[in-house]
Amino acid sequence: MQGVGFRPFVYQLVTRHILKGWVCNTSEDVRIDVEGEQAALDQFLVDLESTAPPLAHIESVSAVIEKPVGFESFEILESISEEGKYQLVSPDVATCPACLEEVLSPDDRRYRYPFTNCTNCGPRFTIIEDMPYDRPKTTMRHFKMCPECQQEYDDPLNRRFHAQPNACPRCGPALELVDNKGRTVETKDVLLEASRLLSEGNIVAIKGLGGFLLSCDATSEKAVRLLRERKQRPSKPFAIMLTSLEEVEEHCQVSVLEKQLLTSHQSPIVLLKWKSESTVTKAVAPGLKHLGVMLPYTPMHHVLLRETALPLVMTSGNLSEEPIARDNDEALRRLGGVADYFLLHNRDIYSTYDDSVAIVERDRPQLVRRARGYAPYPIHLPFEAKQVLACGAELKDTFCLTRNDHAFLSQHIGDMENLETLEHFENTIELYKRLFRVQPEIIAYDMHPEYLSTKYAKDLVDESSGVAFVPVQHHHAHIVSCLVDHGLQESVIGVAFDGTGFGMDGCIWGGEFLLTDYKGFERLGHLQYVPLPGGETAIKKPYRMAIGYLLHILGRDSLDDNLPLMQYVDSQETDIIEKQISSGINTPLTSSCGRLFDAVAALVGVRGQVDYEAQAAIELEAIADEGEGGHYPFSIIGQGGVDVVSFGELFTAIITDLKGGVSPEVISARFHNTIAQVVLRMCQSLAGRTGINKVALSGGVFQNRLLLRLTTAALEAAELSVLTHGKVPTNDGGVSLGQAVIANFAEEGRIS
Ligand SMILES: [Zn+2]
Ligand SMILES: [Zn+2]
Ligand SMILES: [Zn+2]
Repeated sequence: MQGVGFRPFVYQLVTRHILKGWVCNTSEDVRIDVEGEQAALDQFLVDLESTAPPLAHIESVSAVIEKPVGFESFEILESISEEGKYQLVSPDVATCPACLEEVLSPDDRRYRYPFTNCTNCGPRFTIIEDMPYDRPKTTMRHFKMCPECQQEYDDPLNRRFHAQPNACPRCGPALELVDNKGRTVETKDVLLEASRLLSEGNIVAIKGLGGFLLSCDATSEKAVRLLRERKQRPSKPFAIMLTSLEEVEEHCQVSVLEKQLLTSHQSPIVLLKWKSESTVTKAVAPGLKHLGVMLPYTPMHHVLLRETALPLVMTSGNLSEEPIARDNDEALRRLGGVADYFLLHNRDIYSTYDDSVAIVERDRPQLVRRARGYAPYPIHLPFEAKQVLACGAELKDTFCLTRNDHAFLSQHIGDMENLETLEHFENTIELYKRLFRVQPEIIAYDMHPEYLSTKYAKDLVDESSGVAFVPVQHHHAHIVSCLVDHGLQESVIGVAFDGTGFGMDGCIWGGEFLLTDYKGFERLGHLQYVPLPGGETAIKKPYRMAIGYLLHILGRDSLDDNLPLMQYVDSQETDIIEKQISSGINTPLTSSCGRLFDAVAALVGVRGQVDYEAQAAIELEAIADEGEGGHYPFSIIGQGGVDVVSFGELFTAIITDLKGGVSPEVISARFHNTIAQVVLRMCQSLAGRTGINKVALSGGVFQNRLLLRLTTAALEAAELSVLTHGKVPTNDGGVSLGQAVIANFAEEGRIS
């Protein structure tokens, strides 16, 4: 991987071992030709791998012995561009300790300079237009280095040797503060002025590494509410940025592993347990127990946070679910009605990049959103892949390109529900194809005919002769993504729990037990089918789902006016729902586990309508009384070789609890325990049937940390081994990876 200080490292190593020759970057690898004493050469090879710089990922080293040619010095040669060859591209890297020290030192020439970086940190992927990685192929080409920067850049012993984005206040990019009409705010110190505006309750759009973020004082309920109103985002949680780990500890509980993740060079947002005494307003994440927190990851953030001395909201600079804004003009146009001021700079962003989101569960990090700091570093495949493009699903979409043993899982693209996101998706595919020199021979897509990603794939049929097109079942892709996350290529019992996935029988799947490998799957069981009254409407209005369950399982008499559920609906709508269910019009059947959580959330009165995906289920999880150990009854019924989990007893028992005055907190806990028991009993039975003892858990429902903990504990206690997600998101952000691998192994491509 280029731009990570590898050649200066080689130079220093060569100097130490008194060797002569050259080192050179190519489009594919780093080549080194050295001569010297045998012992020195041997030690050089050992040190090359064992002492490489922190960001250098050495995939493999191969060495051959040749006749000496009598080199007289050691040289670093120009990069060589080779047709068809490719090299890994470094993600953007959070400010390193050495650069931070310079930025905070009044005597340093880079004191408070927002664009300070070196070979160990700074922008990479977001400024790269093509490979090999050299300044003219980045958005830094417009800035000519001053003599001092040039000297650092040319000195193999300097931390900034060949640091392509190297810059200083004399020669590099600069900040500018403007109001929402684009008029310059006259000030001697832009960051000081921006921090003043923030502490006075203004909303400031800040151009960062991968796009604009919207910021405001996270302790001010008024400022946060204003941001919500203007951004049209009533309750979806915002992330915040804090100055230091000490400050994080004031607001959240944070474990050793969580601290490591927060301070890692990827510097993701980490979802932490929120302390009740935190001064961050509840409006930042209404109804939730966890708060998304990150530390400053550029010098600009470090200085701004120190000046402001307040927790700051940092949320994507977009309206609702559009892609994050990238260019100055575009931001002023799109965010002019949201932000009062804009903190701009003149270093262009070539590729937009959201902040990554992670949790620590089961003693390891799990990525919920994989973007800044991670992409486009590939996921390793346990086999040699063909060149495949997989287009993913719909929400939280990513795409995936494969080549050799690399799966280039794209950064989080977003919800493929509008043309702006589709355009971002298409442009990013072209960028990845160019960077990694991939020409897909197979194109994989979801079976759902209405997804924009599916339509995008099918539109390629005409212009792609000789390319195979492979539709992939959504939950098959989920489970395979979990297998690849673990580098495994074998059969498992896959438990895929999510909101929506197009099933082979035309129903909406989402509570699936699948015997799965790369090549195919057999549906061994699922949650019972229930009507989804009004289709999409039922997803936005979970009370419809609850009524659907009750009418379908227990009949109209179960709709007692005293149930908390009935506050959300009048008798007229109930009649409509009943008619939809009996006629089946716009009311598909679903086995979705996400919808089951929605139904229970509405039934106990947690939430009737949602503002963002899975809100009802997330709030149901947040209230669960974790001390409660009870669970509800359910049945497993064999239907022609398929085990179906039936919930009549579950709903009867919840209604009995509600009428008996049992609290929603206890009911929520019992319900979570029940679902863990469902997984346990199904997997035990399927393990007996198949002889397979390994269970893979995937799908968006497993973002529910309580459910994930309960389920893995139950399975492991029964001596089943459990695979959960880590590097690859369990939600639909991982689906494209599964699709790519499945399509790679498909017998022959089918055009459909
Ligand atoms: Zn640095
Ligand atoms: Zn300079
Ligand atoms: Zn899914």
